[in-house]
Amino acid sequence: MSSSDYDFIVIGGGSGGLAAAKRASGHGAKAVVIERDRLGGTCVNRGCVPKKIMFNAASIADALHDARDYGFDITAHAFNWPTLKRARDAAIRRLNDIYRRGLLAEGVAEISGAARFIDPHTVEVGGARLRADHVLIATGARRVVPPIPGAELGITSDGFFELETQPRSAVIVGSGYVAVELAGVLNRLGTDVTLLLRGETLLARFDASLRDVLLEEMQKDGINVMTSTRVAGIEREASGLTVNLEHGQRLAGVETLIWAVGRRANTTDLGLERTGVALDRDGFVDTDEFQSTSVRGIYAIGDVTARLALTPVAIAAGRRLADRLFGGQPQARLDYTNVPTVIFSHPPIGTVGLTEQEARSLYGVDEVKVYQTRFTSMYYAIPARRQPTLMKLVTVGEREKIVGCHLIGRGVDEIVQGFAVALKMGATKADLDNTVAIHPTSAEELVTMR
Ligand SMILES: Cc1cc2nc3c(=O)[nH]c(=O)nc-3n(C[C@H](O)[C@H](O)[C@H](O)COP(=O)(O)OP(=O)(O)OC[C@H]3O[C@@H](n4cnc5c(N)ncnc54)[C@H](O)[C@@H]3O)c2cc1C
Repeated sequence: MSSSDYDFIVIGGGSGGLAAAKRASGHGAKAVVIERDRLGGTCVNRGCVPKKIMFNAASIADALHDARDYGFDITAHAFNWPTLKRARDAAIRRLNDIYRRGLLAEGVAEISGAARFIDPHTVEVGGARLRADHVLIATGARRVVPPIPGAELGITSDGFFELETQPRSAVIVGSGYVAVELAGVLNRLGTDVTLLLRGETLLARFDASLRDVLLEEMQKDGINVMTSTRVAGIEREASGLTVNLEHGQRLAGVETLIWAVGRRANTTDLGLERTGVALDRDGFVDTDEFQSTSVRGIYAIGDVTARLALTPVAIAAGRRLADRLFGGQPQARLDYTNVPTVIFSHPPIGTVGLTEQEARSLYGVDEVKVYQTRFTSMYYAIPARRQPTLMKLVTVGEREKIVGCHLIGRGVDEIVQGFAVALKMGATKADLDNTVAIHPTSAEELVTMR
C-alpha cells in the first residue's frame, strides 16, 4: 500500500473543504482534498445552486403573471420542467469543472473516493494511505427520512432535484427553510402543494413577524398548510401515494412526498472510532471556537458540525482555520454572530441578528425598542396580485444599537447583505436615520422608520 505525506488532508470537497484546502495551499501548505462524489458538495449539486435556479424559474412565473397587468400582450403557454432540468444539470456540471480547475490552479491535489481514518493522522482512500499533521473533517450532512412505515416512498430535497417531470401534486413534510422554499417553487410552477407542519408554525427560529407574513402569503397563494400534523405512514395505491396522518386523516392521490425534516452529520463510515473524535448527542462533530475537535490535529467545519448550516459559514470557517494553521494567524476564527441569511420563499425573507424575542430575553424587555413597518412595494401599484413587505429593526439600549434586522417582501433577498455590514459594524438607529434614502425603493423604508 502506497503512503503519501501532506501538510493538510481535507475530507470532503464541498463548500467548506474546498475553501479550506485552497486557502491552505495559498499559504504554502501541501494540501489534498478527498471527495467521494462530485466536487462542490451539497450547495452546488443538490442545495443552494439548483434551488436558486428553481426560485428564479418560479419568480419568472410570477413576472409572466404580472406582465399582462403591466400592459404586455403575452400568453405563456406552458412551463417545461424537463427543459429546465436539463439546463440546470448542465449549469451544475459546468460548476463541477470550474471547481476542479480551481483546485488545480491553486495547487491542491484531488483524490476521488471515500476516505476513512486509520489513525488520527492517517487516512485511507482507494487503497492508498495519506498522512498529515492536520486533518479536516468537512463531510457535510445528509437529509433525514423518518423511521415510519412507507417513508421510503417519499423523497428528500436530493430526490427533488432528480425529478424528471413536474409532479401534479406534492406533499412536503417539514417546517424549515428547505420545506418552505420547495413549497413556494412548486406552487408557483403549478403543482398542487400541501405543507405538513408538525407544530403550529413554520420557521421556528426566525422572528415571529416574518413567519406570520409568510404563512399568510403561502395560504393566500393556495398552498394547503396543515399545522400540528404528523405522518403515521405512507402507502402506494393505484391513484398514487396515500399519506396517513395521525388521528386518522388521509391524503390520497399524492404524486410526490418530500421529506424536509432535518439533517444528520456524515460521520458514519469515517472510521472516527479509531481517532477518539467526540460527537455531540445528535452525532455532529464537537468543535471549539477554533474548529478544533477533541483530538489534536483533527478539525471540523461546516454541516458536519452542529453550527449554522450555510455555505458561506462553512467557507468562512474553513478559510479562518487555514489562516490559523498555515497563515501565521493564531487567533483566526469565525465569529458566528450576526450571520445574515435569506430564505428564497415567495416573498423572500432576509434576516440578520437577534429576533425580537431573543433580544428581549437577552437584554430585558424594557431595554429593547422595535421599529416596524408594513407596506406594499411600488411594484404592486399595477398588478392585481399583491404581496406585503414587512421590515423590522430590533434595537437595544439608549443608543438604540441595532441587534436585529428582519425583512420579508419583494427584493429583500438583495437588501439584507448591506444591512448585515451595518450591524456587524455596530450601527445604531441614528446611523440609519442619518443615511439619505434612495427613492423610490423598498430599502429606503429602513432608513426612514419612526
Ligand atoms: C436543499 C438545500 C438548499 C440549500 N440552500 C442553501 C442556500 O440557499 N444558502 C446557503 O448558504 N446554504 C444552503 N444550503 C446549505 C449548504 O448547502 C450547506 O450548508 C453547505 O453545502 C455545507 O458545506 P459543507 O462543506 O459543510 O458540506 P457539503 O457541501 O455537504 O460537502 C461535504 C462533502 O463531503 C463529501 N463526503 C462525505 N463523506 C465523505 C467521505 N467519507 N470521503 C470523501 N468525501 C466525503 C460529500 O460527498 C460532500 O461532497 C442548502 C442545503 C440544502 C440541502
